[in-house]
Amino acid sequence: MKKLYKKYVSERKRNEYRVLFNKITSIASRGNTFHCNCCGKSFRKFKSKGTDTIRANAECPYCGSLERTRVLLFYIENETKILTDPVRLLHFAPEFSLYAILKQAKNLNYLNVDINPNLADFQMDIMDIPCSDESFDYIICSHVLGHVPDEKKAIKELYRVLAAGGTALIMTLIDLDNPQTLETEAADTPEKRLHYYTEPDLLRLHGTDFNKRLEEGGFEVEVIDYASQLGEEKKKTCSLGNGKRELIFKCTKSHFNSVHL
Ligand SMILES: [Zn+2]
Repeated sequence: MKKLYKKYVSERKRNEYRVLFNKITSIASRGNTFHCNCCGKSFRKFKSKGTDTIRANAECPYCGSLERTRVLLFYIENETKILTDPVRLLHFAPEFSLYAILKQAKNLNYLNVDINPNLADFQMDIMDIPCSDESFDYIICSHVLGHVPDEKKAIKELYRVLAAGGTALIMTLIDLDNPQTLETEAADTPEKRLHYYTEPDLLRLHGTDFNKRLEEGGFEVEVIDYASQLGEEKKKTCSLGNGKRELIFKCTKSHFNSVHL
């Protein structure tokens, strides 16, 4: 039955049905303990999530937002011009809960893309972005660079298409105890990648040197623990994670560099 469903219903349709199904079944979790700032709804619990370590109260049962999605939306609303000014935004691997908000923003020139054409409005390879230099004022790229075969090439491309004075908001899974990103040829199967990188589809597990890897691509990088800045109460109520997945790497491209490159 499951095989037939997969064979005859497209991935895009299956995703739409899943979203609808979640919205209906989320009624059972309604309550006042947790609040999702992405859909504005409150629940007595969020769904658990994770392959290696199970994270309790990670996923909003209604819109599917994760800890990192909620942190990112708070940051976008409070600290950027993405929802207010006429800016050009390139969004990789759009999270459904964020996509739903950004798609509605009338001020925004919004291009959302994914390597899988079923997961975004347009298909795009981050290692070969088919856009001219300095095309975007903002880029959102959350939990993508750990999955990309050639990370250096991807970072170079992000830098190239970002306008001078623009900002790329980049997030990834970080092993906070490892000062060096782990990449090993031994991790050549999903099982081994799960063992080495804690997720079966990661191609590396970033360490605390992630900001340096971005700086090597030309960016000026500020590492922001925005969940902590929001305070303990909000961190708990909105379940904003433990910092392994939720740090925001605010990458800017200075006017000076772009003139001299
Ligand atoms: Zn939600």
